[in-house]
Amino acid sequence: MSDEINTLSLFDEIRPLIEERSDEDKILIEKAFNFARNKHEGQFRVSKEPYIIHPVEVAKILISLKTDTHTVMAAFLHDILEDTDTTAETIQKEFGDDVLTIVQGVTKLGKYHFNSKEERQAENFRKMFIAMASDIRIIFLKLADRLHNMRTLNFMREDKQKRIAQETLDVFAPLANRLGIGKIKAELEDLSLRYLYPEKYDEIVKQVAQTKAERESTVKLLMDKIAADVKANGINAQITGRAKHYYSIYSKMKRLNISFNDLYDITAVRVIVDSEKECYEVLGLIHSQFKPIPGRFKDYIAMPKGNLYQSLHTSVIGPKMRPLEVQIRTHKMHEVAEYGVAAHWRYKEKGSQKANNAEDLQFSWMRKMVEYNQDSANAEDYVNSVKLDIFSDQVFAFTPNGDVYDLPKKATPVDFAYRIHSEVGHKTVGALVNGRIVPLDTKLKNGDIVEILTSKQPAPRLDWLNFVVTKQASSKIRQWFKKNKREDHVELGKSNLEHELTKAVFDEYIKNGEFETVAKQMNYVSAEDLFAALGYGETTATKIINKLKRNIEAEKQPETAFQPRKKTNAKDIIGLDGLLYSFARCCSPIPGEPIVGVVTRSKGVSIHRLDCKTLEDVEPDRLLDIQWANNPSNKTYSTTIRIETQDKQGILKEIIAAVSDNNTNINYANVKAKQNNIGIIELGIELDNLDTLRKVITSLQSLPDVISVKRIQTSFAQAPQQFSKKNVQKSKRNKKS
Ligand code: MN
Repeated sequence: MSDEINTLSLFDEIRPLIEERSDEDKILIEKAFNFARNKHEGQFRVSKEPYIIHPVEVAKILISLKTDTHTVMAAFLHDILEDTDTTAETIQKEFGDDVLTIVQGVTKLGKYHFNSKEERQAENFRKMFIAMASDIRIIFLKLADRLHNMRTLNFMREDKQKRIAQETLDVFAPLANRLGIGKIKAELEDLSLRYLYPEKYDEIVKQVAQTKAERESTVKLLMDKIAADVKANGINAQITGRAKHYYSIYSKMKRLNISFNDLYDITAVRVIVDSEKECYEVLGLIHSQFKPIPGRFKDYIAMPKGNLYQSLHTSVIGPKMRPLEVQIRTHKMHEVAEYGVAAHWRYKEKGSQKANNAEDLQFSWMRKMVEYNQDSANAEDYVNSVKLDIFSDQVFAFTPNGDVYDLPKKATPVDFAYRIHSEVGHKTVGALVNGRIVPLDTKLKNGDIVEILTSKQPAPRLDWLNFVVTKQASSKIRQWFKKNKREDHVELGKSNLEHELTKAVFDEYIKNGEFETVAKQMNYVSAEDLFAALGYGETTATKIINKLKRNIEAEKQPETAFQPRKKTNAKDIIGLDGLLYSFARCCSPIPGEPIVGVVTRSKGVSIHRLDCKTLEDVEPDRLLDIQWANNPSNKTYSTTIRIETQDKQGILKEIIAAVSDNNTNINYANVKAKQNNIGIIELGIELDNLDTLRKVITSLQSLPDVISVKRIQTSFAQAPQQFSKKNVQKSKRNKKS
């Protein structure tokens, strides 16, 4: 065993760092350390070091940010759920809910990796991260975790180094910046640069070192020049001059396309004073000695940056005619610049600067960003109540390639498809979420991976309008239906009204021009446009009928307005003798197979397959002998099939493709739990007749991994209501009446 290092002694490095904390906190922190040390016993990092070194280093980073004790405890425990057999219950029992929440949050975030090349995608990924972390301390821990992993990246394979460094640069450094933690942001950027562009990094490091002496002498000259004035004004100022961090030098060289030697302002002179007033005084003193470069002065004290950063920035022609950038700030502003939102904890612990609600209000962006509990009297409660709520009305979902899209809450795969592209939306026939086929009205969750299955031809569906939540999707669907299939929608609209009004009344209204009148009233050009609008769902039958009703009442002819619904006949089915009818959902008969009618009390005749099991309980005198007409008028009928498959990747896609190739719609899909490596898929499909169904079944059976295909009886409870059902209920006037 190489576990020669006494890992117990690692806590000796922690002890001096937590000296200021209460005895109770010290005990809790040590307990978390011991627990983690035990659990990670025998585990090693790629560097061959005992694993526990990683959590210890992460804890040190968080202690340096002065995060609260629960966060430090969570730091020790952060890899325990993922890498050991410890359960959430154990952590909760040993360390409480709060620590568990942080550990679970970090574990969950650890499952997402960012691999897109687009900047906009990175921004979405960062937002998703914030949205998923319910507590700001989870982000702190995640950043500290990433920082230590970056510090030890040299032990990784080169391709992994590059991937992790790129992700750090795209996601984690900007996240640190957003939270105002300049210290971590700069180190993350420098480490990323080192692995992504090692030659450039080495070159910049070398040149920064070579120019160090010169930089220091310049700063000394500046100090000498203003020191007397500063002293005369009774100002206590700390002046330092350092090179900017490597990555900022690199990006400037890249942006301006110049070499290191042509960069004039790599030195940042920093003046730190006690009060805001002194900042402006020092600025005046410097400008009186050195000529300011026009256009370079920025007052971030009066106008803090979004992440709370405050400072005065100016550039001057410094000693030896060298241009210099000078930043002037107070100690407190400096803390915020280095530690961002974490500075909150730092103040809290200093007796002289106790945080109170009034001071909290200065954290304006945080106020916007977090759900702030007004009742929490002390800072401890405040920090504990910090919730990242800013993106709670959004969900973020991925394509299989790792592109991430932001959508409103309750968005569905159809919204997602239209968000990618309207062509993708129009061609959607199904969706896989996290590898499982789901109904198209499924509500997406943060972090879902959504794969849209498409057909060759666009075929959006009107019933999608019932569940899509994005404007983009609903307006694209409507547009498509306006442009395409106008005749279908005129017909659908007409038949809908015929059904509501009865054919006789409908025909009479047509004859009297009532629909033309209503169309004008509702701002349509013609009755046909009105029917089309009803067909594609822009208006409803109820609205139209209400208008009709009002018009007719105005004409005082109420007795002709609404006659009781007459007996109807159907051209689809022979033997109904004009009775109203509907298709039974239990067996969903389709043209070509034997059927029987069941006379119901209130809904006319319910049409079943002759072999439907529900018929066993029906009294024989309620059965009606019926059959399909030779040319049923309806295009589509719904039915359900059950497919047994081998458990194989991609089988769902093959199945959906095979079904779609046969001019058939899928309106419902459900994957049942697998048993003995057999997958069971139920598909609700819409087709015209039995011949098509046979073709569908044959082509499914010809797929190598399909074991069996069966027509089944099912309740359609889970399937979305299909608009074509209205077609099915189409009725016709009884010739005799
Ligand atoms: Mn870790």
